[in-house]
Amino acid sequence: MDIKDIRVAIDGPSGAGKSTIAKVVAKETGLAYVDTGAMYRTIGLYMIRAGIDAYDTEKIIAALPKINVTLEQIDGKPSMHLNGESVDDKIRTEEVSYYASAVSKIPEVRQFLLDLQRQLALKGGVIMDGRDIGTVIIPDAEVKIFMIANLEERARRRYLEQTEKGMDVKYEEILESMRARDEQDSNRETAPLKPAEDAVTLVNDRTIEETAGVIIDLINRCLERANS
Ligand code: C5P
Repeated sequence: MDIKDIRVAIDGPSGAGKSTIAKVVAKETGLAYVDTGAMYRTIGLYMIRAGIDAYDTEKIIAALPKINVTLEQIDGKPSMHLNGESVDDKIRTEEVSYYASAVSKIPEVRQFLLDLQRQLALKGGVIMDGRDIGTVIIPDAEVKIFMIANLEERARRRYLEQTEKGMDVKYEEILESMRARDEQDSNRETAPLKPAEDAVTLVNDRTIEETAGVIIDLINRCLERANS
């Protein structure tokens, strides 16, 4: 077995630092990074533009056949596309976060994205982050991480990230919206946010390099075990 066969699943609540850490691990190991939250966000963006209410389940399901979500490579970097348009910069607003969490409760929406996500994981050589990667999308992933961090710290990180981008946001509002999303993601019926039984729980309270280092060690140990 080599790194091209490895599938790493990273699940956890919003803002735990999954994507930051996954990107560093991807860079250092050569794994391809797949952000499944971006896919739910892309569907959310479509609904906003179509003027569909975040909780109008019937209209959301009816709109799915009009949506084509793809992961393209632009200059060697993954880029989320909605019906051929690159939407990476447009899916990071609080409104899209709200919609993404709402649409992701709908089983038909999860089913709609399942094939794409499984297909991307199929070949191996990936590190995929989300809420149900280790439990539903790749239950036999070689390495499974459940990443957590305290709510205030997560909200503080998201606040800094967005103010650095020049966005006009309030810390209290981010904190409240994260709390609401955590609750919604953890309590939904289909694919709720929860650790896989065999996941390693990782508290993200160290530096980026240290936390990424823990995951890289787990990958290396898995390779050693498989090849010994
Ligand atoms: O990870 P991110 O915060 O970008 O995800 C946006 C929303 O998409 C989450 O709040 C969650 O409701 C949903 N999601 C999901 N399953 C995944 C990834 C994201 O339900 N695998």
